Amino acid sequence: MSDSSFVIHNVFLVEDDEATRQRLVQAINAHKSLTVVWSCATLREGLAALKTLHPDVLLVDLGLPDGSGIELIRAARLLNYAIEIMVISVFSDERHTLEAIKAGASGYLLKDSDTTYIGDAILRLLAGESPISAGIARHVLKSCRKANHSLDFAESLKKRSPKLTKREVEVLQCITKGYTYYEVASMLGMSRNTITSHIKNIYRKLEVHSRGEAVFEAMQSGLIDAPS
Ligand code: CA
Repeated sequence: MSDSSFVIHNVFLVEDDEATRQRLVQAINAHKSLTVVWSCATLREGLAALKTLHPDVLLVDLGLPDGSGIELIRAARLLNYAIEIMVISVFSDERHTLEAIKAGASGYLLKDSDTTYIGDAILRLLAGESPISAGIARHVLKSCRKANHSLDFAESLKKRSPKLTKREVEVLQCITKGYTYYEVASMLGMSRNTITSHIKNIYRKLEVHSRGEAVFEAMQSGLIDAPS
């Protein structure tokens, strides 16, 4: 967290409910290290703005008037720059949750009348954590258990087993528990550069582009245990 207090992080917000959007903008801007660079209400505007803005964070609603926020998450992942993505939605069902995480979201918060927590959640996201509402985490774990018990899945996994090294599995386990990269580095006695190169290798081997996706894939593959 030490780095983030000295840098202003740009947040891009897509939310169609005007009152909610205004409350979120206010709550985010109340943090001295966060600023909303752009906010809009539709998928179309969001897709257009993503091409020119290079925000550090995309905070996106899923139910947009002209489509799903998941499309925006996919588009953001395809762009070649580092971006942390978090969903803020009223949808708490398994399908929306898993689709958003698979698409590349690292955080998933359920909408609540209280928005004061949002700035802290964004800072945690930037620090390497995955803020996920309690009801949502259950879907992810359930899906992992299902996958772990599927023989067909185990067979297909063997074929595409990404063969993480013992060290990479350790790193991934720590990340799953919500430690930041910095904390993992000091816990495992590594430099920050070493941890960065481990993370890059993990992403490459698992064919993923975000921390949320890496954790999801690794749990589904049985490479790491689901957090208790
Ligand atoms: Ca909406």
